[in-house]
Amino acid sequence: MHNPLGNFNYLIGCEKTRQAIAVDPLDGEAMVSLAREHNYDIKLIVNTHEHHDHIEGNPAVVEATGADIIAHKNAMASIPNVSRGVSAGDVIELGMLRLNVLFTPGHTPVHLCLLVNAEDNDGVPALFSGDTLFNACAGNCRNGGDVDQMYDSFVSQLQPLPDETLLYPGHDYMKNNLAFALTREPDNQDAKQWKQSVSSFDHDEMPVMTMGQERSYNPFLRLHNRDIITKLKEDFPHLGLSDRDVFKALRKLRDEW
Ligand SMILES: [Zn+2]
Repeated sequence: MHNPLGNFNYLIGCEKTRQAIAVDPLDGEAMVSLAREHNYDIKLIVNTHEHHDHIEGNPAVVEATGADIIAHKNAMASIPNVSRGVSAGDVIELGMLRLNVLFTPGHTPVHLCLLVNAEDNDGVPALFSGDTLFNACAGNCRNGGDVDQMYDSFVSQLQPLPDETLLYPGHDYMKNNLAFALTREPDNQDAKQWKQSVSSFDHDEMPVMTMGQERSYNPFLRLHNRDIITKLKEDFPHLGLSDRDVFKALRKLRDEW
């Protein structure tokens, strides 16, 4: 994953049928080579949303493999050549793979996440979160998004996920995000420790975190934290105390940071 935007391009393979799904290809040729190297045949592309850095590799993958493109049904107008539009509750199946579609608008109005249930992944659930949930942050809402929708997606779709859920975000912004988290909660020991332990890591060396770990340092999953709220009051003296108010204030500060 050597690209200037820190995009993660995921290849999810079925070991039995050797078929694979490419999630958010930016460098399509690299995805195709990776699949060939590991003896996988890319059959499907899933785009979490319509931003160029999540779809740019589609044509190269399609040309090399003939893969079908899947995206949210409301993204079909903004992503070229989508052959299947999906909605919340749909399941994308390939070989033994089963990816559950979550509808998570906020970063854009047509954003989806992919959830692999525990029983389909050796007992450990996994979330491909696109630009909705990052390590130590929420995605921004500045390019066609809506922060109220993002809050709703967090509360309804992400917060209920069990602690052991593995998180595969759309970009690596972890170091920067932990630095921001520490401006909001300077005494958070987990944030400090993780910032230290990943400080020398390259994008492709970053650890895969769990939802439980995210809950210990990600301010957007810590909306009841007293230190966070007290500090926000310094910047927003008239801040209401609802979770939504806290979430939106954090997102505003992250935008300006
Ligand atoms: Zn995006």
